[in-house]
Amino acid sequence: MILTQCAVCATELGLTLGKKCGRCSTRYCGPECQVQHWEGGGHDQLCKKIKKAGGAEQYNANKKYAEAVTVAAEACADDTKGQTCYICTQALHWKTKEGLVRMCACRGTAGFAHVSCLAEEAKILFGEARENNLGDNALDERWARWYKCSLCEQDYHGVVRCALGWACWKTYLGRPETNQDRRSAMQQVGNGLHEAKHLEEALSVKEAELAMMRRTGATEYNILVSQMNLASTYHSLGRFEEALQLERDVYHGSLRLYGEENRDSLISANNYADSLSSLNRFEEAKSVLREVIPVARRVLGENDTLPFRMRKVYAQALYEDPAATRGDLREAVTTLEDVERTARRVFGGAHPSTSSIEQSLQNSREKLAARETPPPRGT
Ligand SMILES: [Zn+2]
Ligand SMILES: [Zn+2]
Ligand SMILES: [Zn+2]
Ligand SMILES: [Zn+2]
Repeated sequence: MILTQCAVCATELGLTLGKKCGRCSTRYCGPECQVQHWEGGGHDQLCKKIKKAGGAEQYNANKKYAEAVTVAAEACADDTKGQTCYICTQALHWKTKEGLVRMCACRGTAGFAHVSCLAEEAKILFGEARENNLGDNALDERWARWYKCSLCEQDYHGVVRCALGWACWKTYLGRPETNQDRRSAMQQVGNGLHEAKHLEEALSVKEAELAMMRRTGATEYNILVSQMNLASTYHSLGRFEEALQLERDVYHGSLRLYGEENRDSLISANNYADSLSSLNRFEEAKSVLREVIPVARRVLGENDTLPFRMRKVYAQALYEDPAATRGDLREAVTTLEDVERTARRVFGGAHPSTSSIEQSLQNSREKLAARETPPPRGT
């Protein structure tokens, strides 16, 4: 359930409280809100339509999906002008008339597509892998079509990721709560909302998801992933203490389950260090990163985005530390110069990750310049 509030008064109902419309499953805190919704809120007109669409959750997801596709196509309109979809070869989608999108690392004329076409491909390819029992690796690879571009192999970002998240959720939400694909789909919509900066919405989805995972006895792996996703939203909301607590648990949990060379362990180490830095605990942040950066570079190689994301967090901890020496500041600048070159190569100059690295580089240069210019002499 993504719908966790009373449809009338928005009281938080979690996943199990309250009362449902007997026909369409719209949720209310109690009979008063339900009656009011029917008599004055227009539910008498909509109830049949919602039931026909598959119930309140499906109706909501379909509506959110359509809105998110419109937002994504509008955001990409300048970039996609005069282009065609690499899947259906048209500019306008034959059925939905939606416009094109592209928010990955594809450049030039590559990678333009309709969200509907991307979603259709993901659904078919993943369905095939499930049907033919292709094994975990194939399943993971095909599932990645819901969030990663198959051409440049980088994650979609921003509002495109959000539209694909809703596409994914509307595809699998009808399954039972304990179904693995439904659980993963819930993660996609939570991460998509986060990417589109709908942080409060992302938080409510991710909190509901974690509660559901615990209630239905999900595997430790699933719970760790949920916690990691939830922590990143706390972090973006500036709730660093809550982020840090979860991240510490996830980091230790992944180390125990998978060991230090696993990518998830390394990601969680980086997130943990990032929150330490945000809480001005620079020494601890640096010491975590000094340990894991060499491991990440060795295990993942320089084309994986994680090693350079880690080096960015490390450089930030260096220059943001009020106790930084001039040597630290110089190291921060040279590290970020190198990281920026890699980001340009991997993501391109227009990607938000590249812009954020450029911003850090500029900040580090300013700090260094301030240190190297002698203070004006008094008269
Ligand atoms: Zn209510
Ligand atoms: Zn109803
Ligand atoms: Zn298309
Ligand atoms: Zn791409």
